[in-house]
Amino acid sequence: MATTSSLTYLPVLERIAEEVDRTPGRGRPADYIPALAACDPRRFGMAVAELDGTVYGVGDWRQPFSTQSITKVFTLALDLAREGDELWEHVSREPSGNPFNSLVQLEYENGIPRNPFINAGALVVTDRLQTRTGDAAGELLTFLRAESGNPELDFDREVAASEATHGDRNAALGHFMASYGNIDNPVPVLLDQYFRQCSVAASCADLALATTFLARHGIRADGTRLLTRSQAKQVNAVMLTCGTYDAAGDFAYRVGLPGKSGVGGGIIAVVPGRCTLCVWSPGLDERGNSVAGVAALDGFTTLTGLSVF
Ligand code: GLU
Repeated sequence: MATTSSLTYLPVLERIAEEVDRTPGRGRPADYIPALAACDPRRFGMAVAELDGTVYGVGDWRQPFSTQSITKVFTLALDLAREGDELWEHVSREPSGNPFNSLVQLEYENGIPRNPFINAGALVVTDRLQTRTGDAAGELLTFLRAESGNPELDFDREVAASEATHGDRNAALGHFMASYGNIDNPVPVLLDQYFRQCSVAASCADLALATTFLARHGIRADGTRLLTRSQAKQVNAVMLTCGTYDAAGDFAYRVGLPGKSGVGGGIIAVVPGRCTLCVWSPGLDERGNSVAGVAALDGFTTLTGLSVF
């Protein structure tokens, strides 16, 4: 079940998996694109990655799933590493209190999105990463493969195509922000990058490992530094306040860790200086967070006493 011998939290994960198994209500998979709607809400996996690269888990922890908005953490880190504080002139860092794909605040705030984790903010970040690298989605994939140690990690072309077919809202966000001068690249180019970004398929093991740079205060798996210690703190803080749609307050209350969810049913979470977690179960609550995923992370911090508070 595990890949190495140091399995500090494995008994905790096993206990959580048993508890989840006994819980009947699991929410409903996202249905805005057919590729996600087909997922079985009873699937459940959870992994812990420790700072030395040890990774272990329970249930479907090796099963790739659609990462979706979880990728927004990595594009944020990759862009912040390149341009530093200038990024914050183009995207704010306040919770939005509105749904992830909302347009309403943009008009009042001159095309500057509330935070990098709502779709508007993520589009700005991907646009800026695209300008700096010429291939934002490729840059993301290279990073995820390196940090997870999994060279097979890839885009899911069916999911990306499905997103593009149902992408009117994201197209509207892109064009609206472009009208304020807050998008550099042609909107169709940006959307293609963004849809491929969201389509990356990865497992709990892959994502827990790929997130460890945030628990190591900015240091990558190979020992090089991606973010300054202060930037790693910033990313963790934005995850805590904005990472779980408009339920970030409840997530902080229940789990007490920086976290980022996606409509594929995954959630990553960071215990700074200690470890990272990734949980996946496709059934979502009405705010778009995995029902079993939040319950499992709540269980983890309750059983271990590990949280940032
Ligand atoms: N690709 C999705 C969208 O932009 C991301 C949704 C999410 O995980 O929040 O609609």
